[in-house]
Amino acid sequence: MPLLELRGLTKRYGGILAVDQVTMSVEPGEVRAVIGPNGAGKTSLFHLITGVVKATEGDVLFDGQRVTAMPAFGRCQLGMSRTFQITALFPEMSARENTSLAAQARDKQRWRPLGGGSVFAEAQRRGDAALERLGLTHVADRPAGLLSHGDQRLLEVAMALAQQPRLLLMDEPTQGLSVEETAQAVDVLAGLFASSDLTVLLVEHDMEVVFRLARKITVLHRGAVIADGDPEAVKADATVQSAYLGGYV
Ligand code: ATP
Repeated sequence: MPLLELRGLTKRYGGILAVDQVTMSVEPGEVRAVIGPNGAGKTSLFHLITGVVKATEGDVLFDGQRVTAMPAFGRCQLGMSRTFQITALFPEMSARENTSLAAQARDKQRWRPLGGGSVFAEAQRRGDAALERLGLTHVADRPAGLLSHGDQRLLEVAMALAQQPRLLLMDEPTQGLSVEETAQAVDVLAGLFASSDLTVLLVEHDMEVVFRLARKITVLHRGAVIADGDPEAVKADATVQSAYLGGYV
């Protein structure tokens, strides 16, 4: 059974059809990218999956459960964690405090009034483990705001990981990074995905990043899916090539 399944998912903003009858799925352990030219509907699709906006039509199923009408925090509690296009960390707190807080946020529903100390220690342990997986242990005690841009983006991933997500949603993980920072971040993420059975859905503009990280690709054009499959097949697809050329010309 897919971990995430979208069935005929549609979003209209007034007269604009932002997402048009999207049907796709993400299997457990899969790393899938959603790509498409500017305005194709990638961000809108992400918002529909995470519950930030309501679908006009269609359904979102998470682990077989219909979550279409569930608010964002409910989906988060079920195990969807997302990183943001805009940096969303606390700049004055250390990297370690950021991941520890993120771990506690997911724990909220399990908090026990008398178990405060051990619950905190456990959150910190998970936060530290997430930092290690992203190669950030050496900067754990530095204020997040003083880290390089590349490390800040990786810290956001660590914060999402500290929540032990069942589905990790990444919104343009390398956006705003220099060429060198992008290469470094992609190396770290590729290592992370290769050494884990994480299920990941990422939205990304940079095709090189997509082909490096994703094992499956869904291509959106004007809100609709125009291709879906292995990277090689998607790369060779004539419709995809013309959609991209059309997007850039
Ligand atoms: P980009 O790559 O530029 O971020 P995208 O693929 O993420 O684009 P979306 O941002 O989802 O595309 O936009 C899809 C379409 O929906 C666009 O035509 C956009 O103008 C429109 N749209 C998105 N959000 C809204 C909104 N809140 N109100 C009205 N129209 C919107």
